[in-house]
Amino acid sequence: MTGSRLEPEQRELLALVRDFAAAEVAPRAARDEAAGTFPADLYKQLGAMDLMGLPFDVDDGGGGQPYTVYLRVVEELARAFLAVGEALSVHTLATWAVAAYAGDQVRREWLPRMVSGELLGAYSLSEPGSGSDAAALTTRAVRDGDDYVVNGTKAWVTHGGEAGFYVLMCRTGGDGPRGISALLVPGDCPGLSFGPDERKMGLRSSPTRQLVFADARVPARHLLGEEGRGFEIAMRALDGGRLGIAACAVGLAQAALDASVGYALQREQFGRPIAEFQGVGWMLADMATGIEASRALYLEAADRRDAGEPYGRMAAMSKLLASDTAMRVAIDAVQVHGGYGYVTDYPVERYLREAKVLQIVEGTNQVQRVVIARDLLRGAGARRVQRPRDRRARPDDRPARASRIRRGRGRRGGTARRRAGRTGEGRPRPRSWRGWPSRRSSPRAGCCWRPPWTCSPATRRACGGSRGRRPRRCSPCSGRSSWSTLGGSTG
Ligand SMILES: Cc1cc2nc3c(=O)[nH]c(=O)nc-3n(C[C@H](O)[C@H](O)[C@H](O)COP(=O)(O)OP(=O)(O)OC[C@H]3O[C@@H](n4cnc5c(N)ncnc54)[C@H](O)[C@@H]3O)c2cc1C
Repeated sequence: MTGSRLEPEQRELLALVRDFAAAEVAPRAARDEAAGTFPADLYKQLGAMDLMGLPFDVDDGGGGQPYTVYLRVVEELARAFLAVGEALSVHTLATWAVAAYAGDQVRREWLPRMVSGELLGAYSLSEPGSGSDAAALTTRAVRDGDDYVVNGTKAWVTHGGEAGFYVLMCRTGGDGPRGISALLVPGDCPGLSFGPDERKMGLRSSPTRQLVFADARVPARHLLGEEGRGFEIAMRALDGGRLGIAACAVGLAQAALDASVGYALQREQFGRPIAEFQGVGWMLADMATGIEASRALYLEAADRRDAGEPYGRMAAMSKLLASDTAMRVAIDAVQVHGGYGYVTDYPVERYLREAKVLQIVEGTNQVQRVVIARDLLRGAGARRVQRPRDRRARPDDRPARASRIRRGRGRRGGTARRRAGRTGEGRPRPRSWRGWPSRRSSPRAGCCWRPPWTCSPATRRACGGSRGRRPRRCSPCSGRSSWSTLGGSTG
């Protein structure tokens, strides 16, 4: 674990968590998972150790720790027992929504019991008919006097039936994301009942149930933010939650690697430990590399969050990379164990079953890619929108466009656009970090600022360029273009 940026007391905190996880949490994992036992007493102990409110304000009773420290704690717990690390992550996600959006009275009433761990939190967005398309949810809340009356069914709720409070996303308005609001629902809310515990492939000691609302009355003051902001709250909460899932995935992968290294050193075949075979050593090396990369990425994203910078895209990347890595590491861990990896005597078959769910929860990994791509392209789109303004700033450009129109080609269509795509014509001018173009190196009218093989035929004739990869440059540009300062071919 990287620890160079930790304060001494933060190192002590992590050492305390590691010792607790090794002594109290890890020995329970196999037994509780096999029996599907919810380890409620462990959450009480975490609360008693002041670990259930680590990233929240000291004024609210929290630990006042940066996200980087909180996530390392999640990782340590998940390394010992995934359900416990995941529980802390989900609890923090739900508590965050209350800490950030509840009114003063509700905060005073509820927050201290949340950050102390007295009340375990749950987050309820998914429904039977809306998972990835979360904005299509149909559970409805109608204002009636001082209450909302809630009807509908929510699905897949981690801690369903065990939680002290639920952050519920429901519809108070019309279709789409703007019709969604967030409510804080007490665990013992009248009219709220629970479906049976889902029978899962793994993570069995973490209860997953439906919430069934039948004329459930929730005080109107429990509205988080304003009506219509529920989807935004849900998405912002998920940004932080995805970092928690990334930390869980790294913890799980680390446990699988630890087990594999230990096994490879003691298992002998052909008269020597299997760790000495290159085929096994390379698997271990790949596992360790993926884990370190995943850890570095989630810590970098958490750093940005702590600094108040945008981190949503990087949170999605962290969740994607870490959970895919955990899956691959768990598969390889079974492989390193051979036949013994396929039976329950060793923990790696459980790691494999547990890793799978991390690719699904809090947005499947396909949805993470959608989030990343959309954010990436939104940035690129903003740059594209600036292009016409850049071009207008070059007065010598107008006659060229006008002449194109006079020649009957109008705005770029068909052939011209294809040629432009090949040649780079019309793309934004490349800018050097040194502030290019300076007055001296600016192109003269009719001359090229592009690498010469991208010139139009007319300017190519003026420059003496050619279609080849190494054309001659015209003298005003020669050796001074952005191409040369960026290290490209200078012809
Ligand atoms: C153990 C467990 C615990 C959970 N805990 C909670 C919880 O506490 N709170 C909560 O609200 N939810 C929870 N969930 C629900 C979880 O978030 C959803 O299962 C998840 O968002 C996917 O929704 P879905 O299952 O309806 O799958 P679907 O949305 O039906 O997706 C099915 C497949 O289609 C793909 N797909 C869908 N849309 C696209 C797209 N646009 N592009 C590409 N691929 C797409 C998906 O990636 C997936 O492979 C939990 C789920 C599990 C299994």
